[in-house]
Amino acid sequence: SVAYFNGDFIKVDDAVMPLEERGLQFGDSVYEVIRVYNGKPYTLIEHLQRLLISSESIMLASPNVMELEELVLQGIDKLQMQSGTIYLQITRGSASRNHEFPIDAHQNLMAIWKVDEGVISTPDQGVKLKSFPDERWKKCFIKSTCLLPNVLAKEKAKRKGCYEALLIRDAEIKECSAMNVFIVKDGVVKTPPADQSILNGITRQKVLSLASQNGLLTSETVLTIEDIEVADEIFITSTTKELIPVTQVDNFIIGNGKLGENFSLIHRLYKEDVIRECGA
Ligand code: PLP
Repeated sequence: SVAYFNGDFIKVDDAVMPLEERGLQFGDSVYEVIRVYNGKPYTLIEHLQRLLISSESIMLASPNVMELEELVLQGIDKLQMQSGTIYLQITRGSASRNHEFPIDAHQNLMAIWKVDEGVISTPDQGVKLKSFPDERWKKCFIKSTCLLPNVLAKEKAKRKGCYEALLIRDAEIKECSAMNVFIVKDGVVKTPPADQSILNGITRQKVLSLASQNGLLTSETVLTIEDIEVADEIFITSTTKELIPVTQVDNFIIGNGKLGENFSLIHRLYKEDVIRECGA
């Protein structure tokens, strides 16, 4: 792996951050995670545009998308990375601890490139979700590093033997701690609307467009636990995990507890899209 901090390529474990850093002290920062297939970043522009939205939403100076694109490619090139992930983070900067924005601090930009084997395993049994109240703030469309509620929910789910936490707010299903959620019912691929209460996943958007381009009906609509009880199929999505089938939510067995045909189709469409965009 390799890392970058404010202009220099460094080692991931180099100590470069001052202790008084706003990302660290306040979670005053935004981030992105991008996946690399066959040496090419998948949906890079979509991720960088979302980073722009996240930055503007917390009143950070907008990053230059073309410069970030260049940086991402440089790191891939440096590592000769075929497969892996890239983490980008922009913080409000280093300054003596004080809630109000520092006047003279400059934003910190950092990145980490991590090579992996390129095998994203899709559990053939499907995974279990555990539902929890959504204890996050009201601006979850911002990809901020204030992730404590997400971290706690994920850990609680794991301790219950579940793969992810399904977050419920005002009786509505929102998303998982780090993945979006889809329900298939009577052939319609449904997912909660991308308002301020969820992160509008790049994978979520890709799944919606691939599904509708291939003749499936899609719907961005409010979903509740009742929709879980009658669901034919459920799956969850993210950049790093792609699409993961769900066969149980709390005590409900989904469909017949086996992988659904719509999941298999959409998963295949996704893999084909990756090949189309990044090559085999
Ligand atoms: N929802 C949350 C809260 C996330 O943190 C993530 C990604 O980490 C997602 C959804 C999935 O987003 P994407 O498909 O852009 O990776």
